[in-house]
Amino acid sequence: MQQTIVTLDLEGVLVPEIWIAVAEKTGIDALRRTTRDEPDYDVLMKGRLDILRAHGLKLADIQAVIDTLAPLDGAKAFLDELRKVTQVVLLSDTFEEFAQPLMKQLGWPTILCHQLEVASDGSIANYKLRQSNQKQHAVSAFKSLNYRVIAAGDSFNDTTMLGEADVGFFFHAPESIKKQFPQFEAFDEYAELTAAIKGALV
Ligand SMILES: [Mg+2]
Repeated sequence: MQQTIVTLDLEGVLVPEIWIAVAEKTGIDALRRTTRDEPDYDVLMKGRLDILRAHGLKLADIQAVIDTLAPLDGAKAFLDELRKVTQVVLLSDTFEEFAQPLMKQLGWPTILCHQLEVASDGSIANYKLRQSNQKQHAVSAFKSLNYRVIAAGDSFNDTTMLGEADVGFFFHAPESIKKQFPQFEAFDEYAELTAAIKGALV
């Protein structure tokens, strides 16, 4: 039996979309755009940081919002169940500074993501991608270590990860994205995804 790693997207799969929560809490509608709306992550993030600057919002303000978020219903149990039968790594385009309160609630799973550049006044000066297209690179690297990789995600920024994996699933993906990538089987319930992943363990 080949050893397996499951790579999971974070936002939309295990936790709510962080930026949508920030938009709701701050009342800034322009922050509602996500990777589901804007496939170019650099365009999306630069726009978000411009909006934060324009409203005088600092890292601590965003962290205060994230502190109020909880994982999606059933997410922790789903992750715990998977981690009993295989290795799980979260691959996310969020930032270490944002992820920490949510990782605590999920039992500190391993997460590979990016970092923010924070100015001395606490404002977010920029963001630093550890590596572009990191999800696909991570899957490719795990395969080079002779792991079989099963991946699940919900959005545009997951499709290269799903394509690189031995098996890729959509979870909670919008209809429009599912239609564009019909090659990936899609699920909306943790029980279905758990069964599909367990079925893909060979
Ligand atoms: Mg996502």
